[in-house]
Amino acid sequence: MSLRITHLGSGSKGNATLLETEQVRVLVDQGFSGASLERRLKLLDLHPSDLDAILITHHHGDHGGGALIAQRRWGLCVHANARTAEELGLITDLWQPFVSLEAIQLGPDLAVLPVPVPHSGADNVAFIASHQGRRAAFITDLGSWTDELARYVRGCEHISVEANYDRGLLERGPYPRSLKERISGRGGHLSNEQTGTFLAEVVTDATTSITLTHLSDMNNRPHLAESTVLYHLDDRFQGDIHLSMQDGPEFSVFLGEAVDVEKAPEDHAALSLQREGS
Ligand SMILES: [Zn+2]
Ligand SMILES: [Zn+2]
Repeated sequence: MSLRITHLGSGSKGNATLLETEQVRVLVDQGFSGASLERRLKLLDLHPSDLDAILITHHHGDHGGGALIAQRRWGLCVHANARTAEELGLITDLWQPFVSLEAIQLGPDLAVLPVPVPHSGADNVAFIASHQGRRAAFITDLGSWTDELARYVRGCEHISVEANYDRGLLERGPYPRSLKERISGRGGHLSNEQTGTFLAEVVTDATTSITLTHLSDMNNRPHLAESTVLYHLDDRFQGDIHLSMQDGPEFSVFLGEAVDVEKAPEDHAALSLQREGS
């Protein structure tokens, strides 16, 4: 029994992360068109109608823009807080409201806790998933973090967190000053350095994998994100680090008992980067 985590793609053009246990299959965010979601899931031999539910962090198009499509086209249930549901114009009958810090039971072996995250113009949340005593954090679109968020993320075995921009690239880049200030402000996004500092605060011996997400095309580079974060983590972290780019799925991370890859479809197995002994 394991929790399988597969980023279907991450960045300003769309985000979605697939969480699978033996009993439940859900998406965190649906920022893709219907066709794009179908194509990404097909690479895993899945179809959107195989999903049990979708959880939305906040209403921005790259996270929630495909939620209504998923309700209309496949009748999928969407979990979102009131502000997000209103902004997205969700179909009420297929909407499950949640409030921060109250656990959502998605099935017998998967629950998630929404934790508030500062992000301007949105009621954004991080999700802490828990599966048989193991926890994984999914955090995106924040310009800063709270002690409360750090407390919930500490001790998680897997942490997915955005590393949006390199400070030097943003500063020297072509964006107008006002946009640069919005991105780097308290309600914007995390720089590679901030992500490194945050992770240094929350990574413990329990943390076995980190995935960096939402890298800016214009203002970041994969090697800068990874090296900056690893520099801040120093010897605190001995696990695996992955980067989820816009065109996924590229890999899966497993928490819990190793799965029998021979039983998985070939594409599935090829995409799997399985942690040994975890
Ligand atoms: Zn956002
Ligand atoms: Zn975003």
